[in-house]
Amino acid sequence: MLLADRYAELRDSARVHERALFPLQRTPSELELQARWFAGDFGRRFHSVSGDDVEIVQFGTWNHAAGPDFSDAVVRLNTGDPIRGTIEFDLADRSWETHGHATNPAFEDAILHVFVHQSNRAFFTRTKSNRNVPQVRVDPKILPDSFSANVPPARPGRCQAPLRDLPEERLCRILAAAAQFRLQRKAARIKNIVENHGRDEALFQEISAALGYKENKLAFTLLAQRLPLGFLREQGDDTEATLFGVAGFLEAPDLCIYARETRGYVRKLWDRWWPHRDAMQRLLLPAKLWRLSGTRPLNHPQRRLGALATLINAWPSFTRSLTKKNAKTAQGFFLGLRHPFWNLHYTLASEPAARQMALVGESRIAEILANVLLPFFLAEGADVWAAYEKLPARLSNRRLETGAARLFGGDPRRPHFTKTIARQQGLLQIYEDFCLQDNSDCAQCPFPEQMRKWK
Ligand code: SF4
Repeated sequence: MLLADRYAELRDSARVHERALFPLQRTPSELELQARWFAGDFGRRFHSVSGDDVEIVQFGTWNHAAGPDFSDAVVRLNTGDPIRGTIEFDLADRSWETHGHATNPAFEDAILHVFVHQSNRAFFTRTKSNRNVPQVRVDPKILPDSFSANVPPARPGRCQAPLRDLPEERLCRILAAAAQFRLQRKAARIKNIVENHGRDEALFQEISAALGYKENKLAFTLLAQRLPLGFLREQGDDTEATLFGVAGFLEAPDLCIYARETRGYVRKLWDRWWPHRDAMQRLLLPAKLWRLSGTRPLNHPQRRLGALATLINAWPSFTRSLTKKNAKTAQGFFLGLRHPFWNLHYTLASEPAARQMALVGESRIAEILANVLLPFFLAEGADVWAAYEKLPARLSNRRLETGAARLFGGDPRRPHFTKTIARQQGLLQIYEDFCLQDNSDCAQCPFPEQMRKWK
């Protein structure tokens, strides 16, 4: 992808990566940071606070039981042998003491304490038997992007003038360059998750996140991390109930709140979930994590969870549909997914719809292709640009509209620059690389000058 290299040069010459990243106005929650840690977004090689090299050989699994957040992790210190144990992730270094981990026997096999905020004084991480646990500090500012965006006001920027004078064909090439660069970064990120968690789990985690949309991406990511695909497939007939139970959607024991046609389905989920509930209590997602308002009924997270359960049951045919690394075949697979309840319902409590609805609609499939499957095929060496370039854009969002307003203002060609997913992604990349890093109200942004020189 030569155009991606051109864009990478443009970023480098603008020294995008050397600037302070746009400060996150929202502090990510501990759960979000833990999910990013588990996904490998902070990397896997660190220096401990005492100067040792720390390599995460395996990130382990989200812990079901009492004790640290992740179990069965494997860590290597300096050049030593890999050590297996648990990892605790806290916001502050002092939490090891203030949360009583030092005297809690459940923390006896901890091998690493990860934290974000460092105090003025040193806190020692010792287990009950007085064994020292290495500490690693991670910095959320290095995260490539955040789960939700801060959007500055949509005023046309200084680059609007040079861009307006450029021929359309050249502008489309600039957007394509930025889109190819973004696609390569997505492929690299997915490759990283594949290395950390394996091919199927990586796909499962990313598709789950995509089914969560922006509003519930964190909740769906946590579900897929806490309930790995391999574990869910072993649950057989209990898979769907386990998903709904850990999501926290089976908490109300009163079946009377459900419509008559729904009771049978909920009862079945409930009966299958109940024997697992105590063992899984620790993994249950807090209700406040879900964003239920503002989502279209078709995209309600309960419907999306039904789609995820259907996908898990059909996983062998799903992976077969990927062998050709072909967007059309993957699209056909998702369009063919059926569920006797969720093809007809918006939520667990809703009345049946008048007619069948697609379990995963075309716009969501296009997003899954753009954000998961095509980057995944690219990570496995396929040439995907031609298919990627053709994906039509069916959705927009506030960040995209803001980027388009800043770069193109009232240019009548503006709709043309956002009509495919590739162009939208290119625009987002430029917006994040330049607009979100600019603290000078465009005055010192190098993008307009770079555009004048772009051939
Ligand atoms: S910050 Fe740069 S890229 Fe963004 S609108 Fe201003 S000049 Fe354009």
